[in-house]
Amino acid sequence: MVKEQKPPTCTRCKALPAVFHRVYSGEYLCKRCFIATIEERVRRTISKYKMLEPNDRIAVAVSGGKDSLSLLYILYKIEQRFPHSEIVVVTVDEGIPGYSEEAPALVEKHCRRLGVEFVKGSYKQMFGYGLWEVVEKARSELGPCSFCGVLRRRALNLMAREVDANKLAVAHTLDDEVQTLLINVIHGNILQNLVNKPVVVDPERRLVPRIKPLCLVPERETTLYAYLSNIEFQERDCPYATTALRQDVRRMLNRLELKHPGTLFTIYRSFEKLRNIAKDALPQKQLTPCALCGEPCSGEICKVCEILNTIEE
Ligand code: SF4
Ligand SMILES: [Zn+2]
Ligand SMILES: [Zn+2]
Repeated sequence: MVKEQKPPTCTRCKALPAVFHRVYSGEYLCKRCFIATIEERVRRTISKYKMLEPNDRIAVAVSGGKDSLSLLYILYKIEQRFPHSEIVVVTVDEGIPGYSEEAPALVEKHCRRLGVEFVKGSYKQMFGYGLWEVVEKARSELGPCSFCGVLRRRALNLMAREVDANKLAVAHTLDDEVQTLLINVIHGNILQNLVNKPVVVDPERRLVPRIKPLCLVPERETTLYAYLSNIEFQERDCPYATTALRQDVRRMLNRLELKHPGTLFTIYRSFEKLRNIAKDALPQKQLTPCALCGEPCSGEICKVCEILNTIEE
């Protein structure tokens, strides 16, 4: 006779059956304790990196995916304890047919439920073209994600400024951050890894300070947080996602993490150590207004204008 195996008991509350095994820490967690540990970790990350002040107006970039909606719900809970702070959700429609249409209505529904402000923008409105048109017209070796990354950063900054936010929260998870570190190594942009921090501040204040409260939460756990909290999110992947180098790096890291739990944290912390050692030696990056659009950039012409010039030639 086969004996039925009981699920292990939660190592935190020692009462309820576990629904999740956090392999890298050895914990077994019940639903309630799992949710509590994620919220606690985000709170500790915010305080460790001094991401927020009690009277901030925070623009939260929400794409409609599991990571950004989890971030919204966690920040919403945290913000309830600070009556002078405010949240406004900003969502960008990239203009990717068959993909970008679904998210704004879904995000708006969540905002109505929480009673938070919702503002929508699009690449088309801001730059004159949706991503699909940019990719078609540019006919470049660069993949769609390279264009999209540049346009999204600009779009979110413009929107955060427009809604008078003094912080812009983005939902980059531990996985996203480590993928970016390795992509920079592959591209030879190692110095970029020393300036890419959990809080990115422009000393001249033309870029709204960006914060990454999920930078110490693995993506697998934001997914589970969304499921266990019954957060409805967009499940369809961007059709361009498979073309990116990021996808290859993601697969490699997932395999490593499965065989050697804790690898993502180790890589992240290694770069953090390097950043701390190098912080005084690094030249301060001066941003100057782009000669064409006036937005802050590190060269003479910003990357957005470079893209637009290529497709308008
Ligand atoms: S996968 Fe690439 S193209 Fe698609 S939304 Fe993400 S960055 Fe943009
Ligand atoms: Zn428990
Ligand atoms: Zn420009």
